[in-house]
Amino acid sequence: MSERPLRLGVLGGTLDPVHLGHLAAAHAAARALSLDAVWLMPSHVPAHKASPSASPWHRFAMAALAAADDPLIVASDLELARPGPTFTWDTLQALAALGHDPLQIFFITGADAFAAIDTWHRFPEVLDAGHFVVVTRPGHALPEATRNHPAVAPRLRAVPRGGVLDPADGAGKCRIWLVEADTPDVSSTDIRQRVLTGQEVGTAVPPSVAAHIRRHGLYTPTPAARRLHGEY
Ligand code: ATP
Ligand code: MG
Repeated sequence: MSERPLRLGVLGGTLDPVHLGHLAAAHAAARALSLDAVWLMPSHVPAHKASPSASPWHRFAMAALAAADDPLIVASDLELARPGPTFTWDTLQALAALGHDPLQIFFITGADAFAAIDTWHRFPEVLDAGHFVVVTRPGHALPEATRNHPAVAPRLRAVPRGGVLDPADGAGKCRIWLVEADTPDVSSTDIRQRVLTGQEVGTAVPPSVAAHIRRHGLYTPTPAARRLHGEY
């Protein structure tokens, strides 16, 4: 019996913090494209947005906590180990250098993030360094993600809602797979704001991540690690 090669999903971002929307997007992509694992990969210094609020160590810790009870998800430190701005191009090259076939790599983004793909480092070559999977996000439909990039149209492949596609149908080329999914309406920005204003975040992140945020005073003006001993 011939075994097919393992298909690896990668979900990158500041993950500041990781939340149920990220996990839902990872699962939707995995279901749609029969991925065997999804690596949650916190970026070091993001290329396209302000510096993260939580340190790289805390962001990785939260990704690892989110992965702990989820057989699909693995936390990856590949981008954190590389100094300087994080470019997906470099990440995909690093995976290739580790022996991963670009045709078995699926870089997952939300529709909001993909809408700015033409600003990414080494666009459009980056689209040949792995498959891309664009997952809908509340308020961000698929047309928004692609309408400003007519040049990518020949690469687009829509996965029917709830459906499963065999990426081998891509005829040996890196494609952009469009996945409709009902991911929860949460964002890291909203979670940071909620913590700052003393509101609960337990419905937006896994319980272990909520406990980590609380325990370490993340997203508050005085993170616990900086408080003087005895002030806990
Ligand atoms: P921030 O508010 O700080 O930008 P975020 O919630 O957008 O945080 P990011 O770390 O920026 O999270 O996102 C990483 C990736 O996950 C991006 O490609 C983003 O589009 C995607 N993503 C985030 N939330 C969802 C969601 N609810 N559904 C689908 N994709 C999502
Ligand atoms: Mg974002």
